[in-house]
Amino acid sequence: MSHLEMHQFICRTDNYGLIVHDHQSGATLSVDSPDAAAIEGELKKRGWQLTHIFNTHHHGDHVEGTLALKEQFGCTIIGPAAEAEKIPGIRKKVAGGDSFIWAGREVKVFDCPGHTKGHIAYHIASEFSLFAADTLFSLGCGRVFEGTYEEMFHSVNQFRTLSPSTYVYCGHEYTEANGRFAMSVEPGNRDLQKRVGAVAQLRKEGKMTCPTTIGEELKTNPFLRCGSSEIRRNLKMEQATDAEVFTELRKRKDNFK
Ligand code: ZN
Ligand code: FE
Repeated sequence: MSHLEMHQFICRTDNYGLIVHDHQSGATLSVDSPDAAAIEGELKKRGWQLTHIFNTHHHGDHVEGTLALKEQFGCTIIGPAAEAEKIPGIRKKVAGGDSFIWAGREVKVFDCPGHTKGHIAYHIASEFSLFAADTLFSLGCGRVFEGTYEEMFHSVNQFRTLSPSTYVYCGHEYTEANGRFAMSVEPGNRDLQKRVGAVAQLRKEGKMTCPTTIGEELKTNPFLRCGSSEIRRNLKMEQATDAEVFTELRKRKDNFK
């Protein structure tokens, strides 16, 4: 089986568009639908016909293009069962633990409550790819809007079990700002220093910093590093649980300038 072709691009301001194409069957999916016109343009350039949309959560910058794309391509909309009533045009409702076949590959669904109550992520193990949207960002994680901090802690940290070589496709290009926060809590982390330097260079060249990998995030992302003694020392939380450290990190990030 040949590999899926992944095409990632920036749309709106800092949203990632991601279209995935299987050359064998012609099946093509869009992860979320931030901008129908931009997605349609990228498809046209490649001569691809959209067959599916994998929606991750109900926020406007992730579902706004769904109905227009459905009208144009008649594609099948897959999305989170837990917030199905907020996903326009949804046909197939999925939840954590579900798996289904797309283009001959097994796709596994993770529940990721926190950013929204029903947020899900999609994992295609055979392609080492995780579509994490607004749950796990490079060097950061999504804001907690609807769920609890504890839920978000579990949502983000469940991905530790995935292979370190897994590519993480995120919902937004936030890496540079996330890096500034990460450096404020773990400045002595050499891997983080290196990553922040590389990210600054990429952004200077107008390039994207994602996909990242699980392995890279485990070494650098503070939200996956709640056990780090440097972070705990800086937060004065040496005795706290990982979930408590996570909560404090997330709250500080909300107010970080
Ligand atoms: Zn969102
Ligand atoms: Fe978003």
